[in-house]
Amino acid sequence: MYNPDVVIIGAGPAGSAAAIFCARQGLRVTLLEQSSVYRDRPGETLPPGIEPLLQQLGIADSVLSGDFIRHTGNWVQWGPHHHFNAFGGNADGPWRGFQIPRRLLDGFMLSQARAAGVFIVRPCRATSVILKDQAVVGVDTDQGAFHCAQLIDASGAKGWLARQLELERQAYSPPLLAMYGYGQGTCAACDDAPAIIADQDGWYWMAKIGSDAYAWTRLNFDIHQADRQAPAAFAHLQHLSRARGADVTWRACRQCAGPGYFMVGDAASVLDPGTSHGVLKAIMSGMMAAHAVVESLAHPNHRPSIEHQYRHWLNSWFERDLRKMRELYAAHPTPPDWLSAAPIFHFDPCDLSGI
Ligand SMILES: Cc1cc2nc3c(=O)[nH]c(=O)nc-3n(C[C@H](O)[C@H](O)[C@H](O)COP(=O)(O)OP(=O)(O)OC[C@H]3O[C@@H](n4cnc5c(N)ncnc54)[C@H](O)[C@@H]3O)c2cc1C
Repeated sequence: MYNPDVVIIGAGPAGSAAAIFCARQGLRVTLLEQSSVYRDRPGETLPPGIEPLLQQLGIADSVLSGDFIRHTGNWVQWGPHHHFNAFGGNADGPWRGFQIPRRLLDGFMLSQARAAGVFIVRPCRATSVILKDQAVVGVDTDQGAFHCAQLIDASGAKGWLARQLELERQAYSPPLLAMYGYGQGTCAACDDAPAIIADQDGWYWMAKIGSDAYAWTRLNFDIHQADRQAPAAFAHLQHLSRARGADVTWRACRQCAGPGYFMVGDAASVLDPGTSHGVLKAIMSGMMAAHAVVESLAHPNHRPSIEHQYRHWLNSWFERDLRKMRELYAAHPTPPDWLSAAPIFHFDPCDLSGI
């Protein structure tokens, strides 16, 4: 039976980035993905800082020839004034972000992983972790068992491995729900750049993501008042599906690396989409975990220290983002009450069954 060096659960940006970088270092990599099709899902708006990562992943040419919408900043209404927050620039011109439908980004990355020699198994759902002497040594799936020297959990916000290992996921906000949806038509007010607009209960994010396609996200600071409505500016659009909800409670698994495993992307920590760089964090943590896996396999005696360094790196990033989110919400015209409450909450996954 083929036993890979690394098994990766989840072919989102975090999992594919980890797979590409592990395979390029000569490791045998198996990537498991439960979904059989590329789905549209939130995460289309990418900051300019993503471009060097796309180059390192080897997909910059595909993306740049894709004629995607590029924007030079965001409109912000976070109080009485409406202003344009430009990304900046250099002698070559303004820096520009991207609007890339996730179905396409995930497809580019998975093709690149396949080209790098990654063995992709889909559909394949990880069902339980395999342990030996308290270390992760593989995963059981609906396609059979896969044993490996290192497991990377890139399963997204539900945190598959943290739940399997019963590791604590600490919450830093009360339960938060992001509602999102897609519309078709035209909306001139949103055409030059995405906009984030605060109102007294939270904020709306609106972005043009294709020639006649728009995406919106709504976050209410109080989950009991979650709005399911598209923003008024999008009321005239043809709505492509009913609004959906995602649990975006701020949370982190501080034990994001341990014997035989690393967690990447949303599987390790989640902040709400107000951070605007979930995909960037997913890709960077995938790349960093790949580096850590290569080092762990090359220097088994150093594993505890490599795991410690990875945890420190990712947890410090989370702390910085957490601080920025608290500052952002403190500057909101009606800051949420819970900002001044205890910074640590009990984390229970949101019940999304009725949404
Ligand atoms: C409403 C909303 C709007 C957002 N907007 C943006 C944005 O504009 N820009 C941005 O950068 N970020 C945005 N984000 C955040 C961004 O979507 C995430 O941070 C990003 O997708 C995380 O990538 P990931 O690879 O960690 O996880 P995911 O993209 O969630 O990928 C996880 C993969 O694992 C697979 N999987 C899960 N469980 C299993 C299993 N048991 N077995 C096998 N496979 C499994 C899933 O099918 C999936 O393909 C938004 C999030 C929300 C909720």
